[in-house]
Amino acid sequence: MDHRNNEVCSLCQNPLTAFGSKVAKDGVICRDCAKKASPFLTDEDIKRRSIARMKNHLEYRERNLKKLANFRPSKEVDGKYRLCVEEKRNRFLFSKRNNWDAENPDIFYFRQMKDIRIEEVLYPESTDDYDVYLVIKLSSSQIREIRIRTNEFAAYKKDTPEYAKALATAKEFREVLSAYMSKEEN
Ligand SMILES: [Zn+2]
Repeated sequence: MDHRNNEVCSLCQNPLTAFGSKVAKDGVICRDCAKKASPFLTDEDIKRRSIARMKNHLEYRERNLKKLANFRPSKEVDGKYRLCVEEKRNRFLFSKRNNWDAENPDIFYFRQMKDIRIEEVLYPESTDDYDVYLVIKLSSSQIREIRIRTNEFAAYKKDTPEYAKALATAKEFREVLSAYMSKEEN
């Protein structure tokens, strides 16, 4: 069954637009609903999720937005993404912008982190240009992993200062978060 023939969003019932809608396991969600989902939810994640679970996800995102009003970072690490940590409440987020109301960055808790690693990924079709990713595996019913690219713009060759900077940023994020990860195990 081709769910695109339904022509309305399975969540909000608005008509689907030509671009930007996303296929879920048993329905289609419109561009506006898709935009409300976490940026860490991949298209593959959405394909595997039922409409009921996507509805639950958007409700979680609304609660997250409300929680942001009380998020007070006590530590920040800059990069293309800014890592903000609220140490007292054992939580953190990655933000690309200053307007959190519009961005709604997901709040994560130290105890949710299962594994943190850095991936250097060859850019498609290239032989020596790499992207650098920080990848955090999570135990969370909403988001299975945080994957952020730390290089500023394009992929870079390994001997460039831009590449060194991207790798250094990823390592700093990993170092800061690893310390909190072990803290909560105690
Ligand atoms: Zn919708």
